[in-house]
Amino acid sequence: MNNLISIVIPVYNEEDNISVLLERLTHVLNQEKIEYEIILVDDGSKDKTFKIIREAAEKDAGIFGLRFRRNYGQTIAIKAGVEHANGDICITLDGDLQHKPEDIPKFLNKINEGYDLVCSYRSERNDPFLRKFPSKIANLIAKKFSNLELKDFGSTYRAYCTKVAKEMLIYGEMHRFIPVFANMFTDRITEIPITLQPRIHGQSKYGLGRTFRVMSDLFIVLFFSRFFNRPMHIFGYISLALGLPGLTILTWLAIGKILGLITIMNYGPIFILGIILCIVAGQTMSTGVICEYLIRIYYNDKRKPY
Ligand code: UDP
Ligand code: MG
Repeated sequence: MNNLISIVIPVYNEEDNISVLLERLTHVLNQEKIEYEIILVDDGSKDKTFKIIREAAEKDAGIFGLRFRRNYGQTIAIKAGVEHANGDICITLDGDLQHKPEDIPKFLNKINEGYDLVCSYRSERNDPFLRKFPSKIANLIAKKFSNLELKDFGSTYRAYCTKVAKEMLIYGEMHRFIPVFANMFTDRITEIPITLQPRIHGQSKYGLGRTFRVMSDLFIVLFFSRFFNRPMHIFGYISLALGLPGLTILTWLAIGKILGLITIMNYGPIFILGIILCIVAGQTMSTGVICEYLIRIYYNDKRKPY
């Protein structure tokens, strides 16, 4: 285990926040004598964000910048930053000063207790009701289905064991559900309270439209977290649920026909329904088999997160 701590910060049009953030961040890190690398991921900013990152990187050998050619979104930015992390522990936080860099030692203390993922919950959240309400619902659903005892799945201020962080697949708005993904690889997950600071400079990059995207991502994440390792279970169930009625119909028609009780011609629609159900069941089953092969290839190929 190395002592380096990688700090990953996605930034999109945060020119007014970065300098203050870096100043406070490096102050805390130096004060605590933490060996650090700060990876700022510029997610296609149109303002002076990258210029400020470049200047900071020239002055401090522990500061690095990645720059996207266009705006890919916070999730991809976090993922890119984590992929470049060299420390065994990494921390992600927002670049808009809503997350206090002074909280970093609290996260590291928990990591030192042996946790692989330390999440945060916003004990005082100064967001408007229309932001808080959907996030409450998403948290309730995520908690119910994932069996993870977390209060807040969506807070992006987190500390990770880098191996686990690199392993997680995140797309769409899924940085919000990282704990659910992480739970596929570890159950050493905990959370600590933070106070979310109000945003002073710049604007939030999200509107209400995000609620729908978050909800659909939530569905995919829960699906993945339950069936990722055993796709045949879900495809097998669906296949049985379709195939059994299909087979029953066809058997019933066949027996009737053999005994000379019915003419198939008179049962056209139900005959076709039976055939369609059987064909779809067969297709679903073979999709399941293909997924089983894929998951085996996936695990053969992978660095193991343990
Ligand atoms: N961000 C990003 N790409 C985006 C949107 C946001 O890198 O497309 C960054 C943003 O600069 C900030 C963090 O992600 O550092 C959180 O974004 P924001 O503060 O807008 O989200 P909110 O706090 O409103 O949830
Ligand atoms: Mg913010």
